[in-house]
Amino acid sequence: MAYRITLIPGDGTGPELVTATRRVLEATGISFDWDVQDAGAAAIEKSGTPLPNEVLTSIQANRVALKGPITTPLGTGFRSVNVALRKALDLYANLRPARSMKGIPIRYDHVDLVVVRENTEDLYAGVEHDVIPNVAAESIRIITRPACERIVRFAFDYARANGRRKVTAVHKANILKFTDGLFLRVAQEIAAEYPDIPFEDRIVDNMCMQLVERPHEYDVIVTTNLFGDILSDLCSGLVGGLGMAPGANIGTELAVFEPVHGSAPKYAGKNKVNPVATILSAVLMLHHLGEHDAAQRVQGAVEQVVVEGHSVTYDLKPTREDPTAVGTQEMADAIIAAMS
Ligand code: NAD
Repeated sequence: MAYRITLIPGDGTGPELVTATRRVLEATGISFDWDVQDAGAAAIEKSGTPLPNEVLTSIQANRVALKGPITTPLGTGFRSVNVALRKALDLYANLRPARSMKGIPIRYDHVDLVVVRENTEDLYAGVEHDVIPNVAAESIRIITRPACERIVRFAFDYARANGRRKVTAVHKANILKFTDGLFLRVAQEIAAEYPDIPFEDRIVDNMCMQLVERPHEYDVIVTTNLFGDILSDLCSGLVGGLGMAPGANIGTELAVFEPVHGSAPKYAGKNKVNPVATILSAVLMLHHLGEHDAAQRVQGAVEQVVVEGHSVTYDLKPTREDPTAVGTQEMADAIIAAMS
């Protein structure tokens, strides 16, 4: 039986990354019945809205989606489709693993971090307005006990299920005494329910320094929405950049898999950017579907191609101008060849 999966190509480099990933997935021998849905610029052209209702109903029906990045206008224009999708489907946990692979020119070997980011509230709730246009504006930061409880529980359950060492809650409770004060108190309460898993907390600015200097001291990091977004880009920089950083948005019933990175619009249509972040997001999807064997085969093939270092995109070469760098589809071809 084929898995029916919602497939959202997205904007910018999204469609070419999703095509590469789809080819890798199909090469596993598993059957997929793709329910292709437009969101972002393509959807505006067709139906006048960046997030048509059919996208949400498709994901609700299929329960699983693979998604390319979607562009959000800066400062003006429509609100983020990515944030709206996570909120509308209550995909409350954003899981963003960052694991180093051999063969990439990076500062540290053996980095293995997982950022668990709250995905539905904080400053991303988008409650903001002008007080005096062009002079003053306000944004309201929303943090609630139920959202803190479920994201911290998700982090501990993930740590337990995956044999991880410890959980670190990251906050700014010294300054944001009400919002992050609540997050920290709840994290400490939930941690007491998991005596088998060590727990600690760090203030976010200190955490940035520590991750850059001593990433091996950390394991699962649980935090609020904005800090999670920033820390996961930082963690991707430790393992080879955004081209290597996969992600999953997970709710109680539904899951949407997408890379950490955005649409990298300057490279759109150039067959240039690294498909690994999207392919590893698909590996997370295969695990979610219970297809662990296929997931391991794809992961192994990616690692082999990256270690060999020949058929890799520009960002994984020692210099960005390396003339031996291959394109998005050629790297996917090499991963498919390594699988067989
Ligand atoms: P970006 O992630 O698109 O790019 C940041 C940098 O990383 C750029 O130098 C880019 O070239 C590089 N990069 C990104 N993906 C790469 C890949 N696969 N391989 C190699 N290099 C890669 O971030 P941005 O430029 O800040 O944002 C562009 C657009 O994407 C914005 O509209 C933003 O809102 C949107 N965005 C969407 C998502 C999402 O869909 N979930 C996430 C982040 C940003």
